[in-house]
Amino acid sequence: MEKIVALCKRRGFIYPGSEIYGGVANTYDYGPVGTELLSNIKNAWWKTFVHQRDDIVGIEASLISHQEIWKASGHTTGFADAMIDCKNCKLRIRADHVIEEYYSKRSIKEKVEGKSLDALDKIIQNDLGIVCPNCGKHKWTGVRKFNLLFPVNLGIVEGDQSLAYLRGETAQGMFVNFQNVVDSTRVRLPFGIAQLGKSFRNEITPGNSIFRTLEFEQGEIEYFFDPEKSDWEKLFDEWKKSMWSFVVKELGVNEKNLRWREHGDEERSFYSKRTEDLEYKFPFGFKELWGLAYRTDYDLRQHAKFANKDLSITDPETGKKVVPHVIEPAVGINRMLLMILCDAYREDDPSTSSGPSGNRVVLKLHPKLAPVKVAVFPLLANKLPLVKMAKDVYRDLKKHINGMITLDDRGNIGKRYYAQDEIGTPFCITIDFQSLEDKTVTVRDRDSMKQERVKIENLGSLITQKLA
Ligand SMILES: [Zn+2]
Repeated sequence: MEKIVALCKRRGFIYPGSEIYGGVANTYDYGPVGTELLSNIKNAWWKTFVHQRDDIVGIEASLISHQEIWKASGHTTGFADAMIDCKNCKLRIRADHVIEEYYSKRSIKEKVEGKSLDALDKIIQNDLGIVCPNCGKHKWTGVRKFNLLFPVNLGIVEGDQSLAYLRGETAQGMFVNFQNVVDSTRVRLPFGIAQLGKSFRNEITPGNSIFRTLEFEQGEIEYFFDPEKSDWEKLFDEWKKSMWSFVVKELGVNEKNLRWREHGDEERSFYSKRTEDLEYKFPFGFKELWGLAYRTDYDLRQHAKFANKDLSITDPETGKKVVPHVIEPAVGINRMLLMILCDAYREDDPSTSSGPSGNRVVLKLHPKLAPVKVAVFPLLANKLPLVKMAKDVYRDLKKHINGMITLDDRGNIGKRYYAQDEIGTPFCITIDFQSLEDKTVTVRDRDSMKQERVKIENLGSLITQKLA
């Protein structure tokens, strides 16, 4: 993990946020190649789950949202509990639950409800010396009220009326626009509404690099269906297959590093009938990548109640009104990016390596995801005809190829290959003296490190083919 984090900083994938001012914990900025990778992942997700489906449409909702949305969703009440954190294992848990569990194990009949933060703190830290139920250590932070949503004060008047929130999840955008989408499009059940975009959670738990951050990019789909006409278990299994296939085939991740984990009763939200996480084996262990939850009709019913609106849809065949149920696949795109970097990172065996240090670091990224598609090199930087020809090839490829192309003439060829391997560039083209005679160049493949000689006029179509 340390090596990957260092590579990310050194080569421009990920930087700590606000770094020149000492940083803001749990924020990150994406550098030039990180931004390309992020954008390529988002495009792949959108293409697979919106463009290539005939039953899903996309929306983009505002980041600033009405406070009532989050009352209806349960975020402002549920997220505002008195919480305590274990400094050792980073478990965050409701303070009253810690005490209740302690009492119930010892059959103590005492009420915890309605106690102040100070009182809860005193019971856990001093009176009972309760240990963390997860790791058994007694290393707590103080008890504090914790609302995970970021409040926003609109206008110049302070007070409850001007209070809005940065959204805590993209999902609510789909529920509050459900009626708009039904009225303005031709969708029919079952159908999905998809969204890619930032969400914000004021979490204080330190994460592993971009694994858990204050703001993060989500890719969520709310898949609406009539529970009397569609079998939810069948839909659930179809979604599991789609998610798995996307990660393995579109993102090129090794399926040995993936597994499903079903949530137990105590972990699952009370309204969910089934929740499973697709987990990836990060260097710090198997962790949630992509959640899949059957949320019933809970969200639409909550909004119908809070907004006092009819959020049902009329079945065109029977004329019956239905409040659809929903299955929700929800993924963090930044977490997906971290997974891809971890999965693609290799250190080649020195005996087969061409790297200058004898230890080649290479990101074996799927060519579709690679931040830079092609690097073009003149063999020598001080031979003008080589440099001129390299520039011509570079400019011409830019017209043909969708994605970043780079031109590099610094240092020797070995070092230039090495630098491109580190950011996962699949192809390097070198213009040498033979190129001047017969208008051919060498194309070097990142993974096999083999070179083939290709006519310049065929380069565009050849590379396009290889990137597909
Ligand atoms: Zn702990």
